[in-house]
Order: sequence, then C-alpha cells, then structure tokens
Amino acid sequence: MNNPPAYFPDHNKNTTTCCYCGVGCGIEVAKDKLGRLMVSGNEKHPVNKGMLCSKGMNLHYTVNDASDRLFYPEMRYGRNQPRQRVSWDAALERTAAVFKTFIEKYGPDSVAFYASGQCLTEEYYVVNKLIKGFIGSNNIDTNSRLCMSSAVVGYKMSLGEDSVPVSYDDLDVADVIFVAGANPAWCHPILWRRVEAAREKSPQLKIIVSDPRKTQTCSIANVHLQLNPGTDITLHHAIGRALIENGDVEAEFIKHHTEGFEKYRDIVFARTVAEAASICGVEESLIWETASYIGNAKGFITMWTMGLNQSVVGVNKNLSLINLNLITGHVGKPGSGPLSLTGQPNAMGGREVGGLSNLLPAHRDLTNEQHRAEVEAFWECLKAGYRQNRALRLPKCLKRWMKGD
Ligand code: SF4
Repeated sequence: MNNPPAYFPDHNKNTTTCCYCGVGCGIEVAKDKLGRLMVSGNEKHPVNKGMLCSKGMNLHYTVNDASDRLFYPEMRYGRNQPRQRVSWDAALERTAAVFKTFIEKYGPDSVAFYASGQCLTEEYYVVNKLIKGFIGSNNIDTNSRLCMSSAVVGYKMSLGEDSVPVSYDDLDVADVIFVAGANPAWCHPILWRRVEAAREKSPQLKIIVSDPRKTQTCSIANVHLQLNPGTDITLHHAIGRALIENGDVEAEFIKHHTEGFEKYRDIVFARTVAEAASICGVEESLIWETASYIGNAKGFITMWTMGLNQSVVGVNKNLSLINLNLITGHVGKPGSGPLSLTGQPNAMGGREVGGLSNLLPAHRDLTNEQHRAEVEAFWECLKAGYRQNRALRLPKCLKRWMKGD
C-alpha cells in the first residue's frame, strides 16, 4: 500500500512555500470539492503576490505521485530482502540503534548526515545540534555546499558577513542589473517577472547579461557579454578598469568603507580592456558600454548564481563581481548591491543556523575558538550525549588547513 497520507483536512487552505527554487514563492494548498490536492499562488505573499511559475503550479503532481514517491518509512530487515513498510517508531528506533552501535564501536566520526537546502531552518538547526552538539562530530554537509558555499566565502571576505544586502524591492528601483552566469528567466522565473515588470515601468533600466550561452534572460538584455567559459574574472576586472579610467568610481565610499583599492587598481590595470576583451572573446566596445551604464547608474545590482559559484575559483569570481559594487559605492543604498541567488529555497536559512560542516549557528564559525565556546555553552553540550566532556572541536582537515599544511 503506497497511498498518499491525508495531509490536509478537506476544504482547509494551508499556506506554505514552494520548494523548487531559491525565489521562495508563497503558495496555498487546499483540496477541491472532489478531494484533489490543488496549489495556487498566495496573493498576500510579498515575494510572488499570487504568481507562480510552471514549476510551482505543478507542485501537487509531485506530492501526489504514487509511482516513485515514498509516503511512509520503509525498511529492509536483511540486505537481500525487499523493503517493507514500517511504523515511524520502528524506523526511528532502528536508525538510532544503528547510529549508537557505530558511534560506540568506531567513534562519533563514523556517522554523518547529508541535509538539503529544502529543509526548514528549524530542521537545519536541530540536525546540526544533534551531530555537532550531541553526537560530537562535524560530519554534516548539505547540497547548499555545491550551490552557494562560494557566495558564503565571497560575502565574508568582501563584506565581512554572509548576508545578502539586497531585497527584492531593490529590483524595482535599480537602474542597472548585471546578471552574471545565471539564467533567471528559467531558473528563478518569478523573480525575473519582477525585473521584466520593472523594465516595462522604466524602459531606461539597463540589463547586462554575461553568459557563454544565449539564454532566455538575454532576450531583454541591453548588452550580452557572451564570454568564453572561465573568463569571468578577466571580464569583471576589465569592467573595473574601464570604470576607473572613466572616473566612475566613488572615491568617498572607497576611502571610508573599503580597503586595498590601490592593490585592486594594480591588478585590474595589469592588462588593457582590449587585451581582456580578446581573452574573454567579447567585443571591447561592449565592455566600455557596460562600464558606462554602471558609471551612470544611481542603483546598480549584481546578480549571480551557479555559473560563478560552481567553480574551483568560485570565491574569486564572486569577489571580482562584488568589487564592482564596492568601487562604485553601490552597497547599502536603495536599488544597489550584490544579490546572490540560491538554487534551493532555504539555502540561506541553513547558512544562518550553521548548515555546513564548517559553520555554527547565528553566523558563527567553527574555526573561531570564541564562537565554539559560545555555542557549546548555549547548547550545554558538555553535559549531554556522546561528547563526554569533549569540547566542540575542529575537524582534523580544518586544523591542517589552518596550519597551512
Ligand atoms: S519561481 Fe521558484 S519558488 Fe516561485 S513558483 Fe517558480 S519554482 Fe517555485
């Protein structure tokens, strides 16, 4: 028997969030008169104001699909036996017993959790507390690692904190939106509808897209920088150089709110805009045009996602883009700032409660001794579980990394 459980009482509307992408649209779920599950956009939700894209509109088919969806716990009693349905109690007791056996025999690092950017913030927090505070291991990671750990480090290194200093409302008042390595028209559709609406209202809004592919997002772009794959940093530095040459940097902001500008200038002046254009495979004139739009903007938003993040130099790609906001003073004012998009609906919530192996809740770091002490005291973790009076500790690989080995 694999019938869906009765999640919702008849005719009751339940509000929740679409779990497909990082936009976070509000949805309402209810049953129709025939008892079928229906989803619709929540008109009162500030993110989507009642709109849903085709993925969100079809969410209920996933929930109802009995062909390959697990509705109840299933367990094998032996490796060669088929799975059979068991009660939640039986499944949880068996899981805990297996964990206990391994931990007692081989230590806390013999077990691990892999979580998801689709978990709720509270779930993220609880599983972190369980493994780090109770079991005594840092063996937890999530698919958020692949999705946006480059952005986490990029924000920390450039702004000092892993927080996105832009709200969706800023999109309505920006003059220039620079989309790097992303195709939000397909991947973050409701957010992109908002950009399209802003363009309809203000035809002077300039949209710049850098992407080796010609995507749907390019269809309303003023400039498409169709760069060679892997040349993002060269392109961003060339735009930085053009801004400096044009005198379009914000000297007061740089003086009071940044450090290292001289070094940055030396780096971006290491090659000419023409040389960079040739490496990137784009027209030099498009780089100058981009710089001139940014230089004349009152509100300038940079927007990016996996095209920059999922790279062995993802952090540097993030930094080179965020630097364009910093040298032009476009941070911390309406319509401006770096807006990283996530692939998962709650990757950011996970970041806030320590949802990666190297993080602790409330934007604390595992590598920071004081942070570890604070969390340890708050969780009272020396008193409980498998810690057995062992403090929160660094994983061996992080210790080696911090020593420079
Ligand atoms: S834009 Fe994203 S969050 Fe909104 S409905 Fe579509 S998939 Fe869901």
